[in-house]
Amino acid sequence: MNFVLLDVAVESGRGTAPQAAGIRAKFRRNEKTMPFENTSLSMNQSHSRDTVFSGTGELLLKSVPLNKITLRVAGIVGESVTDGPGIRFVLFVQGCPRRCPGCHNPQTQCLGGGTFMTAGEIMERIEKDPLISGITFSGGEPFLQAEKLVPIARECRRRGLNVMTYSGWTFEELLEKNDPAWNALIELSDIIVDGPYLQEFRSSLVKFRGSTNQRLVNVALSLKTHSVQTL
Ligand code: SF4
Repeated sequence: MNFVLLDVAVESGRGTAPQAAGIRAKFRRNEKTMPFENTSLSMNQSHSRDTVFSGTGELLLKSVPLNKITLRVAGIVGESVTDGPGIRFVLFVQGCPRRCPGCHNPQTQCLGGGTFMTAGEIMERIEKDPLISGITFSGGEPFLQAEKLVPIARECRRRGLNVMTYSGWTFEELLEKNDPAWNALIELSDIIVDGPYLQEFRSSLVKFRGSTNQRLVNVALSLKTHSVQTL
């Protein structure tokens, strides 16, 4: 897909955003202001994880060497201008339970597919390229491996790179899960592209997305204002 470059300023180096878990109730109260999308997968269904994707929380609580963190990866694009603003390193993670008809990356759906890479190997690739301005987590479903992506996102932020994360779940659903790893990945993301690809809303005019139901969520502003703010 070829999209026009998005003309937005992506902030980096936050740390002031309120805890995602603490604002879930406020999001519920502001429900009338948020256009819920048509998602066919319930949150209960979404919670099932096999052992590959299960997280222990260990990576959130203590510093684990990046070369000890292994992810299931579908592929990498070293420099992309179609997966977010600027020149981006794109990590396509493996595994997605949704099976959206018309999915652009069906090979990334199989939970047992892909190859293994360590977070250390991924950071090495990123550090070699001075041109990139950010990292994009795509897939597959990045939030299935949220705990593994959090240390990478932290390292990227520390280096001044912004973070954009795709998800088949809506922003509200991601918050509703109230999983520590999911919350951490939400807060480390500058932009979340949310919602599943829906063929009936397919459009080549929306930037960085496949269908018009998907939103470019300004994460920091949404958490601050307790309602979904889009770019
Ligand atoms: S959420 Fe994305 S990766 Fe998963 S099936 Fe749908 S379009 Fe494909």
